[in-house]
Amino acid sequence: MEIRLYNTLSRTVERFEPLQPGLVRMYSCGPTVYNHVHIGNLRAFLCADVLQRVLRHLGGWSVRWVMNITDIDDKTIRDSQPGSTAWKPDRMGAQTGDPRENLRRLTRYYEEVFLQDIAAIGIRREHFYAMPRATDYIPAMMELIRRIWRNGYAYVAGDSVYFDLSAWIKEHPYGLLFAVDLKNFIAGVRIDADQYEREEVSDFVLWKGRKEGEPFWELVLDDGTVLPGRPGWHIECSAMGHELLGLPFDIHTGGVDLRFPHHEDEIAQSAAGYGSETARFWVHNEFLEVEGQKMSKSLGNFYTLEDLVARGLDPLDVRYAMLGAHYQSVYNFTFEGVAAARRARRRVQEYIYQLFERGGSRSCDVELIRTEVFGHLADNLHTPKALAALFTFIGEHPAAELDRDSRNALRDFFTVLNEIIGVWEISERPPAVIPPDVAQLAAERWQARLERDFARADHIRQEIARRGYAVRDRSDGYDVVPLEE
Ligand SMILES: [Zn+2]
Repeated sequence: MEIRLYNTLSRTVERFEPLQPGLVRMYSCGPTVYNHVHIGNLRAFLCADVLQRVLRHLGGWSVRWVMNITDIDDKTIRDSQPGSTAWKPDRMGAQTGDPRENLRRLTRYYEEVFLQDIAAIGIRREHFYAMPRATDYIPAMMELIRRIWRNGYAYVAGDSVYFDLSAWIKEHPYGLLFAVDLKNFIAGVRIDADQYEREEVSDFVLWKGRKEGEPFWELVLDDGTVLPGRPGWHIECSAMGHELLGLPFDIHTGGVDLRFPHHEDEIAQSAAGYGSETARFWVHNEFLEVEGQKMSKSLGNFYTLEDLVARGLDPLDVRYAMLGAHYQSVYNFTFEGVAAARRARRRVQEYIYQLFERGGSRSCDVELIRTEVFGHLADNLHTPKALAALFTFIGEHPAAELDRDSRNALRDFFTVLNEIIGVWEISERPPAVIPPDVAQLAAERWQARLERDFARADHIRQEIARRGYAVRDRSDGYDVVPLEE
């Protein structure tokens, strides 16, 4: 199918074709592993996941998907220092005297937490081509910094190396993804922080000089200058994308907050060092709000997946709820929304089970619904339109009425759809496990019915319902099923 995607570079929806026939190379900015990721981060990873699934199953391409693990930056270093509240001695052991070892212990722990979180929301490890850790690519980052320096777009100040944005913007565009106001640009101002505001657009750090008590590596420039220190955040993604995918690759994803400065700086670094464009398409997902408000620790509405699971939510219901909003819209996370998503997800699941059961004689044109649902997904990942079309179809075509050919064709359709949506079981209904006391009551009820003691039968039925089950009578017997929530 033809796939169309909104490209932040062109600010239009464009037809997508991979640069190499048959293979899509895609890079997603991954987590910074200093704590549990929040559900806003998870939305970004989920959007990338749905995109790569659409590319595989509707585009028909192989996908080489890379998501980095930022295990060295300002925050990971801060939280691996002695006295940090993020340090969990029971999981990470005692702090050591070696800052690099402390950083490793902290980040490996939160990397594991992250991998469990994404698995829980249905992102499959085998879909990744690589999940590189930044600390495993430091030689590549050093080489890129040397290249930028050689090309005249980097300079040393103190023990650090900065990207010379004043030199760069004289000859090259900057602000390709995000309207940066270069009026505010002041030559010679240097930014050391990983994150900064558009009003602060300045020379940014590529290599940060060593600070006491921090992990460091030695960068050697061509003139023999040795600079103990560590990479800035932006250079990490430029180097890893280049090493693992080659430049330019097809798609770079991330949240809208990464457009500037992170992605803007990535573009400038890769162009200055490798002489190449970074990516053909830039795909950015919008923010997430919680109950209509910006998520923040001070408002008490800052959630990690662990928080939601502790409140009894199923992570796959969270996945399904998030797919109910288009990735370019602000998604308003609410508990009511997840509850509604749960009901909707179960309704589809019930329909799928029924496709494996006895049907009727009505036929239906499965090609129509396939074209409609997949058409919405292929058109800039319009998940809410796709799911709405699915529900209309389900409402109009009860599974129990459909003939064998229609049900078979629908099973095939749902199998592919679920490769993208990823929240259902495409199988026969698993047999319900009925507790012995309920089974016993059901048998007594059946006996009461045979004896035409309907008052007693009804009384037992109520008792069964109180225990969370229902009895469905057939002409030749009965089934006991769990009550719907
Ligand atoms: Zn990145």
